[in-house]
Amino acid sequence: MTARILDGKAIAGEIQKQIVEKVCALYEQYGVYPGLAVIIVGENPASKVYVRRKHKACEDSGIHSVVIRMPENTTEGEVLQQLAILNNDSKINGILIQLPLPEHIDTEKILGQIRSDKDVDGFHPLNVGNLSIGRDGLIPCTPHGVIKMLEISSIPIEGNRAVIVGRSNIVGKPMANLLLARNATVTVCHSRTSDLAAVTREGDILVAAIGKANFITKDMVKPGAVVIDVGINRLGDKLVGDVDFAAVKEVAGAITPVPGGVGPLTIAMLLDNTVEAARTQFAGRMKG
Ligand code: NDP
Repeated sequence: MTARILDGKAIAGEIQKQIVEKVCALYEQYGVYPGLAVIIVGENPASKVYVRRKHKACEDSGIHSVVIRMPENTTEGEVLQQLAILNNDSKINGILIQLPLPEHIDTEKILGQIRSDKDVDGFHPLNVGNLSIGRDGLIPCTPHGVIKMLEISSIPIEGNRAVIVGRSNIVGKPMANLLLARNATVTVCHSRTSDLAAVTREGDILVAAIGKANFITKDMVKPGAVVIDVGINRLGDKLVGDVDFAAVKEVAGAITPVPGGVGPLTIAMLLDNTVEAARTQFAGRMKG
């Protein structure tokens, strides 16, 4: 069997078209375009590439985009000051802090200071809590993108076994909540899981969010499973995922490539979150 390839680039393209329509509708209704501000601290090369892509995606979709570049030696207080300005800027509806921040800055402290209705990454404790109790809020872009990909690809979730490898706050945990909310039976694995392969082989849907190149091998995958590879790893001059794509595609039913799988969906969902944040804020101003 050779797996169906889930083309994240094509799916993201479709979502982006819908975003352009939503942006135009908001402009017609309120006379303003949604705005996104990204703060990047330091010179991390991968972060710079991601920020450039996010800025371009905004420009292509009619979203007003501001990138604030701060040097590596920026203090925590200076980041908080910048954040306070953006929290109060009515032209900015979404704020994103590009991670990782330099080590001398307390990431949790910074994320907790983003106005929760502008928190388009969905990392503020209020949004994390809303997701875990099933209330509306801003949802982290990568796991949200994975759900969109499954839904648009007509992959059934309800009643199926979903196994997630990775328990980060950014991917693994919100992924588990989103799949649980759609009635999957969810198992979350991590570095201390014993007999990992026996657990991953139970997954009808297997999500890999580990950060280790080609970690998920063919023998760890249930025949016919849907394999979602969130990982992005540099191997020489190539980008590869956490899944050994060439071998696993021979046993899986469907699989995402890297690049061109989950990555484009992450950016599409960031734009979507920005539009939704703007919609809520514009509607609130009309009432206020
Ligand atoms: P983290 O490093 O925060 O988390 C990695 C997780 O993998 C941890 O829970 C860790 O377990 C687990 N893990 C590590 N080694 C093993 C092992 N040997 N066996 C089982 N579990 C293991 O990473 P992120 O969640 O932030 O990112 C994961 C990957 O996804 C990275 O490659 C990252 O670049 C990529 N990514 C891609 C995005 C996209 O847009 N496509 C967006 C965000 C991330 P433990 O908790 O026990 O340490």
